[in-house]
Amino acid sequence: MVFENAQKQLEKAKKHTHLVQETEEMLKYPVESFSFSIPVRMDDGKLKVFEGFRVRYNDARGPTKGGIRYHPGVTLDEVKALAFWMTIKCAVINIPYGGGKGGITVDPHKLSKAELEKLSRGWMRKAYRIVGPDRDIPAPDVYTNGQIMAWMVDEYSTIVGQYSPAVITGKPISLGGSLGRSYATALGGYYCVKEAVQKATYGKKVVIQGFGNAGSHMARLLAEDGYTIIAVSDSKGGALLENGFDYGKLSEIKENEGRVDAYPGCKKLSQEQLLELDCDILVLAALENVVTDKNADKINGKMIVELANGPVTPEADDILYKNGKFMIPDILANSGGVCVSYFEWVQNKQGYYWEEEEVNKKLHAKMVKEFNTTFGIHSKKKIDMRTAAYVLALGRIDEATKDRAIY
Ligand code: GLU
Repeated sequence: MVFENAQKQLEKAKKHTHLVQETEEMLKYPVESFSFSIPVRMDDGKLKVFEGFRVRYNDARGPTKGGIRYHPGVTLDEVKALAFWMTIKCAVINIPYGGGKGGITVDPHKLSKAELEKLSRGWMRKAYRIVGPDRDIPAPDVYTNGQIMAWMVDEYSTIVGQYSPAVITGKPISLGGSLGRSYATALGGYYCVKEAVQKATYGKKVVIQGFGNAGSHMARLLAEDGYTIIAVSDSKGGALLENGFDYGKLSEIKENEGRVDAYPGCKKLSQEQLLELDCDILVLAALENVVTDKNADKINGKMIVELANGPVTPEADDILYKNGKFMIPDILANSGGVCVSYFEWVQNKQGYYWEEEEVNKKLHAKMVKEFNTTFGIHSKKKIDMRTAAYVLALGRIDEATKDRAIY
């Protein structure tokens, strides 16, 4: 249960904080949790009903913010955990938002483009009651993208009768999207790595699990910086090339063949084998619960970067920390995505758009600051980086909860 894992992380971190009773109580349950059906007329003429979700977890610091996931494994429990993590993440990176998340239980690869559009518009036709530019602002997550955000912003704008770009982020540039948003999750993670390598010495061998938006851009950024990507994987399997992949060729192969292990001359690997490879940086950019108490002892990467949400379980966290691994946790490592979503929202509200360079400069400043604040807590309190990031976030949520004086 992913939500149970999130609660375990919270319990562990609470021991290092002095939260007021109100904060503890407010963090137990989501502010709003909404499950609904989405009927879609499929191409074959039959009606099919999909299950959709939106959870607003905590709004002490501002409107709730977080992506929408399309995946066959999506459940309310998972969406609740992801909404909780968004609450913590937005506080770690210090943007004025609470946390939310949405999803649909579906394998989007099995739908035609027309079906996908109906499904996405259908999600918004139900969720418009809970979302809003100053209430709850969705964005892309696993298997959702700018096109899906575009259909949703159009649907919302039609329902409320006015163009409302600030209701959703991760939009195409033509509809008020921000320059730099498409690769911001990876860029934020990359900035964290650049800070981490100043604190201790690491070599340049990298393994990346997951080759979606976050994983592929991370591979590009690290390869451009002289790192050697020795192994990558996607949902179809893993691939190893000791001398390192050529990023351009790799992305071309993924694009044309739909799988990274079609790369000529590579050795095919299972996900398990890939995770256990000897490397300097292990980037986890796929899904939850991939490093557990079963395989944590076999992880050979020296630095672990969580670009996915929740890839390491609480039990595995303790083992990795004991084994001296340096972890950059999800709530910090992948916060660049939501940070640039915030910049997109600010630009939408101002109706004034920034250059790409300005976006990246502002992102860099945020990542460096909060990475170092987290690192400082980790060193001072002698606690793992995840717990340190929670301590930082909980302090901020606590302050807002106290100041709002909810009765
Ligand atoms: N889905 C991303 C995340 O988990 C981005 C959320 C956003 O931009 O609101 O952080």
